[in-house]
Amino acid sequence: MRILVLLKAVPVVGTERLDDALRTDRSVALEANGNDEYVLEAALKLTEAHGGEVTLLSVGPPGAMDPLRKALAMGATRAVHVADEAMRGSCYVGTARVLEAALRRLEYDLVFAGADTSDGQGGVIAPALAARLGLPYLSYASRIEPAPDGRTVTIRRLRPGGYDVLEAPMPALVMGTQVLGEPRYPSLRGIMQARNKEIRTWTLADLGLDARSVGAGAATTRVLRAEPPAQRAGATIIREAPETAVAQVIDLLAARRLI
Ligand SMILES: Cc1cc2nc3c(=O)[nH]c(=O)nc-3n(C[C@H](O)[C@H](O)[C@H](O)COP(=O)(O)OP(=O)(O)OC[C@H]3O[C@@H](n4cnc5c(N)ncnc54)[C@H](O)[C@@H]3O)c2cc1C
Repeated sequence: MRILVLLKAVPVVGTERLDDALRTDRSVALEANGNDEYVLEAALKLTEAHGGEVTLLSVGPPGAMDPLRKALAMGATRAVHVADEAMRGSCYVGTARVLEAALRRLEYDLVFAGADTSDGQGGVIAPALAARLGLPYLSYASRIEPAPDGRTVTIRRLRPGGYDVLEAPMPALVMGTQVLGEPRYPSLRGIMQARNKEIRTWTLADLGLDARSVGAGAATTRVLRAEPPAQRAGATIIREAPETAVAQVIDLLAARRLI
């Protein structure tokens, strides 16, 4: 089974900052997006159990190499890194265009993607790719089971209060989150083996894409402002016996016209 994992390199959580053009500054240290490490773990477990290989695909700046190397050390087979200065300023549509072009040049039975990212938080790339590539789309998977004959994949899709069981023909795109299970740490052996694993680097020209179809010039939206969250007023802490505390909470809510 060939699983392709979409892995976005994001600023180390907690260090995110904007540059002068109000874009996420990617000159800082990058790590694999959290959700992507969870779907990678699911892919590694599946190929360990059923055989096959895991290819990583990342579109991003040169700093994406570090998380890609770590993912190879975790056990992925190879990596493809699409890097091109012309992509700077790409909106969601431009990014999906580049990922689609790369996916059209790769072979897979399943594509795994995270639900969203810790920096962009669009939550749009996975369904956009499924739509562009005409792939069945299985979202919020908490369990992924390919059929032994390799024709279909079944997932449990979480929903409030339970889950649905969905089936789709392969190839398909599966989106997941941390409920898939903790990602492993790379072993020393894995780190050594990763040194000899292939990392292919593609540019827009390699993908047959016109540089004018992506980047800031082709962005469908423009960031006008970026403001920090409003400061919250200090909390009111009530340290009373429950009977008195409940009455005080009700008074507070009523005073703010919330009830
Ligand atoms: C006007 C505008 C300008 C922007 N300019 C820039 C810029 O200059 N530089 C910049 O880096 N970003 C820029 N962005 C943000 C960029 O468009 C998004 O980061 C990108 O489209 C991915 O969106 P997301 O992170 O919200 O992905 P989501 O939809 O939240 O991601 C879902 C999943 O898709 C996969 N995925 C997403 N992105 C990638 C990727 N790049 N490689 C591999 N897999 C991926 C992952 O599996 C991820 O978990 C800009 C956005 C806008 C609107």
